[in-house]
Amino acid sequence: MVDYRSKNDYYITCEDVFKIYKIADLEVVALRGLDLLVREKEVMAIVGASGSGKTTLLNILGGLDNPTAGKVMVGNRDLVNISARELGKFRRKDVGFVWQQTGRNLIPYLTAFQNVELPLTLLGWSPGKRRQRAAEMLEAVGLSSRMNHRPERLSGGEQQRVAIAVALAHNPPLLLADEPTGELDSHSAANILDIFHSLNETYGVTIIIVTHDISITGKVDRVVTIRDGRTSIESVRGIKRGDEQAEQVVSYEEFIVLDGVGRLQLPREYVDKLKLKGRVRVLMEEDHITVWPEKGNNREKRE
Ligand code: ADP
Ligand code: MG
Repeated sequence: MVDYRSKNDYYITCEDVFKIYKIADLEVVALRGLDLLVREKEVMAIVGASGSGKTTLLNILGGLDNPTAGKVMVGNRDLVNISARELGKFRRKDVGFVWQQTGRNLIPYLTAFQNVELPLTLLGWSPGKRRQRAAEMLEAVGLSSRMNHRPERLSGGEQQRVAIAVALAHNPPLLLADEPTGELDSHSAANILDIFHSLNETYGVTIIIVTHDISITGKVDRVVTIRDGRTSIESVRGIKRGDEQAEQVVSYEEFIVLDGVGRLQLPREYVDKLKLKGRVRVLMEEDHITVWPEKGNNREKRE
């Protein structure tokens, strides 16, 4: 099992990130002290209930939005203390986006090939170079035979594959995908994940996928759960070995995230079951800690 917290050579570091949206007099706290570490060339997934802050986080990592407070580093860029000009450059060159709505990813009146070529034209690539790259990317997502079709003549899964080719056309080191399989059946979704893995191997791109889809979360090494604007749980894939004949069983080990100042989120069902509220008792045992309801049993009463 890889210990993702053992070294400090991360590609992405988020520390105590806050994002507060102000609408008139109302404040919405979308991220409240979020921590996240991502290694270079990692393929990982982020899950969480609707409204938990997943899209807000991707927008910040992609330079589309600024955090209200905290530290956000991507590569050697400090996305909090960065000029608007540098941020624009980062967004254009270093990040590829795939959105949930297929309509947001592709231009309907352009063919698949033209869609992939477009961002390269905007970046000033020569016609020869961009045609070569568009053909290469469409082949990488398995759509060479469909390159002259417009989006409306492609299936939902094929449209998302073109969207991935568009997002990676300019060879960014980071791919951010917000519910890329939200509108797809499970077979097409699994296929998209295989493509992510193969692109990760070929181009070394770091991939962060926001998803509810178990056909995706079951196939990445690490799944981070966001709850109420904080990273709450990390599930890390390990291989359990049974007896020699038995097949290796892939399992996930779940950890609660403890932040830099010692805060953690207790699982909601535990909190509900023990009716924990306001204050709790925390007792140190020899090699672990117990948490008791304020007025419930405590060690003194038991003894
Ligand atoms: P998720 O992607 O996990 O569903 P979001 O990041 O979209 O969550 O939203 C997190 C919270 O921030 C929600 O309460 C949402 O209503 C709020 N929010 C997101 N974007 C904006 C915005 N532009 N203005 C105001 N509130 C927003
Ligand atoms: Mg969202």
